[in-house]
Amino acid sequence: MHELGIAQNIVDTVLLEMQNRKLPAVSAIALRIGALTDVDPEALVFGFEILSKDTVLRQARLNVERIPVRGVCESCGAPFEVEGYVFVCPGCESRSIKLTSGTELDIAYLEVPD
Ligand SMILES: [Zn+2]
Repeated sequence: MHELGIAQNIVDTVLLEMQNRKLPAVSAIALRIGALTDVDPEALVFGFEILSKDTVLRQARLNVERIPVRGVCESCGAPFEVEGYVFVCPGCESRSIKLTSGTELDIAYLEVPD
């Protein structure tokens, strides 16, 4: 389960960020996970709960936002959403497309209590 490694990474990153920005314990961590990554959000949340329970992050929620796969056609320039792993432009059927989202795995923002 490689989600555990990713969860460890998130815990480390957030703790460091809190230290650098002198933040109080965060109440939520918003994550963006692209649909092309093979990360299982439930496994990630589970891993996070295990790893954070002995840290100041034990109260923090992990909010996962799934990012759809989007691309731009390199032939006609049309932006579109890739569905079902069909990497073909719906406008001109070109296979020459550039992906613009779907591979994200980042922390979008941290929520701190008022
Ligand atoms: Zn096209």
